[in-house]
Amino acid sequence: MVEEDKFRNKNKIVIAIDGFSSTGKSTIAKQLAKRLNYIYVDTGAMYRAVTYFALDNNLIGEDFFHSEALIENLDAINITFKFNEDLGFAEVYLNEQNIEKAIRTLKVSRYVSLVSTISEVRQKLVEQQQIMGKDKGIVMDGRDIGTVVFPEAELKVFMTATAETRAQRRYKELLERGHNLSYDEVLENVTTRDRIDSTREDSPLIKAKDAIEIDNSDLTIEEQLKTLLKLARDLA
Ligand code: C5P
Repeated sequence: MVEEDKFRNKNKIVIAIDGFSSTGKSTIAKQLAKRLNYIYVDTGAMYRAVTYFALDNNLIGEDFFHSEALIENLDAINITFKFNEDLGFAEVYLNEQNIEKAIRTLKVSRYVSLVSTISEVRQKLVEQQQIMGKDKGIVMDGRDIGTVVFPEAELKVFMTATAETRAQRRYKELLERGHNLSYDEVLENVTTRDRIDSTREDSPLIKAKDAIEIDNSDLTIEEQLKTLLKLARDLA
């Protein structure tokens, strides 16, 4: 029996991965979920989907944010994930439209933290996230998973890395996807988002008391995965 099969027979747990922007949370969470045969949920994609909706409906822009109108229209936002066999992960849909690529632009990144300060938006998404994790066997990444969404999660991880390391990673990723932008623009976005996310009133990004902190500035993906797999297996 291989390691993974043994694990499947045990109790499923909830794994919450929080941390600053571009700390590689989703890369690790995705692989961890695959190895454990768990569901992976990228909650950042959900906040990005709401932001995409707000931009598409002219509710937010350079010098305006019609937050009341966004709140009134929240019922018109239906976010779902559908597993893409070819890609090996679930893509995000907004009202049946695949927006997986459209939400990864710097434009959406510029507005997402502002949209994420709205309590009504958070309430709607947190509710949906809690339903997704009710049967456990889930790896969820975001900013408030271990503190608000699943305060009882069996395993909580808080990922950090220097702002420069994170901006460099995000810059490389965006260039590879064909986006035309400068490293400075990316660094600015990463630090601004961290500031807004950490200082907002509702569910600010903070390390849960019982979270294990991992600074991955000098760690490979394999090293991080090995550590997390061991932690998860010891708990399940
Ligand atoms: O994870 P990602 O960088 O895609 O998240 C985009 C933004 O969504 C974050 O900067 C934050 O403002 C918001 N977010 C949040 N709570 C979460 C996940 C993301 O406020 N659980």
